[in-house]
Amino acid sequence: MGGPAILALDFDGVLCDGIREYFESAWRTYRRLRPGTPPAPPRGLVERFARLRPLVESGWEMPVLIHALRAGASPASLARDWRPDAWLTDLGGAREPVAAELDRVREEWIGEDEAGWLASHGFYPGVIERLRGLAGGPVRVVVLTTKEGRFARMLLARQGLTLGAADVCGKEARRPKRTILLELIAGGDAARVWFVEDRLRTLQDVAREPGLAGVRLFLATWGYNTAADRAAARRDGRILPLTLARFARDFPRWIT
Ligand SMILES: [Mg+2]
Repeated sequence: MGGPAILALDFDGVLCDGIREYFESAWRTYRRLRPGTPPAPPRGLVERFARLRPLVESGWEMPVLIHALRAGASPASLARDWRPDAWLTDLGGAREPVAAELDRVREEWIGEDEAGWLASHGFYPGVIERLRGLAGGPVRVVVLTTKEGRFARMLLARQGLTLGAADVCGKEARRPKRTILLELIAGGDAARVWFVEDRLRTLQDVAREPGLAGVRLFLATWGYNTAADRAAARRDGRILPLTLARFARDFPRWIT
């Protein structure tokens, strides 16, 4: 059939555009880490944050990115050399507590205003229809996300998509995507797994793993990546840039 047996999909930036939610949750988290910060973000911060979102791998980096921007780091220098751990230290935090605070902020937001929280996310055009078309078919769809799996599950369920318990692997799995992909292959044929991700560095990390040599890797060009990332993918023999229009089409069209 010319398609995968397992289609592994990143969530944020591949299926879901939650930039409004990311900023709002990150801002609320930042204010808890820096009490005394005024409630309203300074002008232009949302836009700068959105432009730099491709730098972020895990949620804890989002309030840290806000800190770096508020501390006066230039967006160009951050884009060139993003050092989240150094900025985290500067903020006086540590990964686990910052990540836990972000999850708490989300839980509280959902508790207070679930409709508002859901509405601050959007799915990219055609993505839900494509997943619905795969439901019940031979291709197993697995979502790999660095956010808590339950948040991704809630957003998918809202669209009428219920994946199996093992088919949404979130932060709680505590393993990098590369490791989860190895587990999905489980000694079988790696070429049967296709992986769509919007973060170039994650794809490069997967490409370095010998056990994943056969996995087809796609950079979602509609997600959180830069023109430089997309150009790098075009030069890369292993990683294929994939447009949203192609994502909506049959699998053979992804690779021709
Ligand atoms: Mg992503």
